[in-house]
Amino acid sequence: MTVLVKPQKLVDAKVREFSMLIDGKWVEGVEAGTIERVAPSHGVAVSRYKAATKDDAVKAIAAARKAFDDGPWPRMTASERSGILLKAADMIAARADELAYLDAIEAGKPITQVKAEIAGAADIWRYAAALARDLHGESYNTLGDGTLGVVLREAVGVVSIITPWNFPFLIVSQKLPFALAAGCTAVVKPSELTSGSTLVLGEILMEAGVPAGVVNIIVGTGAAVGPTMTGHPDVDMVSFTGSTGVGRLTMENASKTLKKVSLELGGKNPQIVFPDADLDAFIDAAVFGAYFNAGECCNAGSRLILHRDIAEEVTARVAALSQKVKVGDPLDPSTQVGAIITPQHLEKVQSYVSAAAGSGANIALGGSHIDFGFGQYMAPTILSGVKPDMAVAREEVFGPVLSVLTFETVDEAIRIANAVEYGLSAGVWSRDFDTCLTIGRKVRAGTIWMNTFMDGAAELPFGGYRQSGLGRELGRHAVEDYTETKTLNMHIGARTGWWMPR
Ligand code: NDP
Repeated sequence: MTVLVKPQKLVDAKVREFSMLIDGKWVEGVEAGTIERVAPSHGVAVSRYKAATKDDAVKAIAAARKAFDDGPWPRMTASERSGILLKAADMIAARADELAYLDAIEAGKPITQVKAEIAGAADIWRYAAALARDLHGESYNTLGDGTLGVVLREAVGVVSIITPWNFPFLIVSQKLPFALAAGCTAVVKPSELTSGSTLVLGEILMEAGVPAGVVNIIVGTGAAVGPTMTGHPDVDMVSFTGSTGVGRLTMENASKTLKKVSLELGGKNPQIVFPDADLDAFIDAAVFGAYFNAGECCNAGSRLILHRDIAEEVTARVAALSQKVKVGDPLDPSTQVGAIITPQHLEKVQSYVSAAAGSGANIALGGSHIDFGFGQYMAPTILSGVKPDMAVAREEVFGPVLSVLTFETVDEAIRIANAVEYGLSAGVWSRDFDTCLTIGRKVRAGTIWMNTFMDGAAELPFGGYRQSGLGRELGRHAVEDYTETKTLNMHIGARTGWWMPR
């Protein structure tokens, strides 16, 4: 049995209206169409957006281009830019409750969790502000008396930033402050399902002193504005987070003008557990890794790879703890798992479970949706007896569904962990130093957690191997991702060349 937190009906729900931000003005858009967001938790409309078209995307790109080519932002001192980013961070913290409510109601995320995300996002803005002042190139005074070499880091230019619905405010905060710190200008498109908090961020940035045209925010479907944002010749770089399929499409579109591309895509992340591990700590991390954000998380620990000797005991203990997870109303502070983003996505998650059961996996827990009479919810689900070739073991389910596989040797664990097309993150649990390091070095993923799971910090780079993406966010190199490298090769004194007398 799952612990249910029945959502209270939103009887006085107000529909919040949003415009789009182009060139420092809040505008209706060329065609003035609208997009309405129905709360996945409550089934009632909560937000209405002006829907952007290709023409709006073109205008937003033109504004960003002008702000980059002629405006003050790239020409300010880093100290001035940093000051504005710090002000923005303070204002994010001041409006945290409003931002958290928007993400909770539009994405169905538990309010306590989102508040922590907003606080984490404010911290990232502060970190980016610090990095802005430490962005520098290199100098080479070692090339002989006649040469001085200086390597500059220059802002790459106009960046298209496309974000998904699972961490609306956190993901835009992993991109935009670093782009701004480098001196870039941007066109931002949040998911049409969860655009509210990104538009509030637009208000914050204008108030903090970001000049007009530097940050433009449009709300539209990927189909309507995506191709323009990723293909327009005036865009210099695309930073995208979302599905591997759309990531591939983004790269294809960007390839026509050879833009710089940064991609954070899917994951099918394993947690590998050895018999000598601290199992109490692991059981907690397994449940957290599987159901955090309802499993709608690129970092979800959706595959448990358990040593055969402990598989039965561990599965039973994970199932027992999973039954204590509180599922339901995202607005209730005690809720741990909220709603599923759309009815179509719930169907997709359920179809993975039934396909796995049809191929011989055992539904050890859950397996079905939860009916509160409105909204869409899914029970924490555990599938045991999963084979590495089943779709549920290879593909990103993006729901609260945990697959359990087993291994006997370290080599077999590594083989199973690497037997998917993704490589975002992985966990290893053992008290043995050699075991942890061997797994840490041989599993092909951007982050390896040892005796913990899904911890993070603004200082630590995040990104994937293989089809989990390209490039890294966060960490001290994050600002450099939004730069071009320029070499100044300077000659000192009389120059001799092959056509000049020596
Ligand atoms: P998408 O990849 O479709 O969406 C991510 C973003 O890309 C959204 O802003 C979306 O816009 C936009 N987009 C869609 N089509 C295009 C396009 N042609 N060009 C440019 N941008 C585009 O993910 P979904 O929302 O459809 O989710 C599907 C699956 O993707 C999930 O089940 C999950 O497996 C994975 N996913 C992974 C995420 C991650 O963090 N790595 C995040 C979200 C999803 P819009 O939605 O407004 O149309």
